[in-house]
Amino acid sequence: MDLKDKICIVTGAASGIGRAIAARYISAGAQVAIADLKLETAESVAAELTAQGPGRAIGVAMDVTDEAQVNAGVASVAQQWGGVDVLVSNAGIQIVHPVEDFPFADWKKLLAIHLDGAFLTSKACIPHMKSKGSGSIIFMGSVHSREASPLKSAYVTAKHGLLGLARVIAKEGGTHGIRANVICPGFVRTPLVDRQIPEQAAELGISEKEVIERVMLGETVDKEFTTVEDVAEVAFLFAAFPSNALTGQALNVSHGWNMS
Ligand code: NAD
Repeated sequence: MDLKDKICIVTGAASGIGRAIAARYISAGAQVAIADLKLETAESVAAELTAQGPGRAIGVAMDVTDEAQVNAGVASVAQQWGGVDVLVSNAGIQIVHPVEDFPFADWKKLLAIHLDGAFLTSKACIPHMKSKGSGSIIFMGSVHSREASPLKSAYVTAKHGLLGLARVIAKEGGTHGIRANVICPGFVRTPLVDRQIPEQAAELGISEKEVIERVMLGETVDKEFTTVEDVAEVAFLFAAFPSNALTGQALNVSHGWNMS
């Protein structure tokens, strides 16, 4: 399996999991657009990853909730490099509150980044994939695409929703060689998770150590965090898989936290 010279767009690639996926693709010789909120940060990550090679990266300013920015960003990548082969819709945030205290504005903000972001980026990339007769769309789901946890109503709703959107795109894309799949990671130590540890300790009235050992890793087979590199390997598999046989799927990478 090969990604050499493939044109890839990874959203939320200035940090955490997205950055590791971009690095993995570049290590395989791909051309990767680092799409994130701030152009300066995206460009500086792109420069660091290009220096590692053998592939190359560019930075693209993109708020995935803004249709005009998504369309402009995807169009500029397609024009510069000649199409789009792989989309990883990865940008995401976390906000935790019990349902009765969840500010409606925060609910809408979270759903917009995860769901509108996946929809808008897919919508913009699919025509480019259709014209090539192939493409791979990857959504960053979560074990929370299959499980629920207290305080995470918006996140769990969004991550479950991504399974539905991926399955529809898999069906619509089949005759065009366009595949759609979802990666479902367990807890990964990124800024998104580091912020949650004190927040959850305060909301649940337990220590930070208990949040890690009980809430985050309690159901794993070995009490280990999943790593960004683990998730990036799955993202490589979904991107480079050579046929439509692997489509409409969701794959857990979670140290056995969820086995469905
Ligand atoms: P992170 O905070 O390290 O990175 C998220 C990136 O998304 C940041 O670079 C941020 O600037 C970007 N972003 C946020 N809003 C955006 C927007 N509107 N438009 C474009 N970019 C935006 O987080 P992470 O842990 O790497 O999370 C990446 C994805 O992985 C998210 O979808 C998250 O839900 C998912 N995920 C994370 C974990 C985990 O444990 N860290 C587990 C399962 C799934």
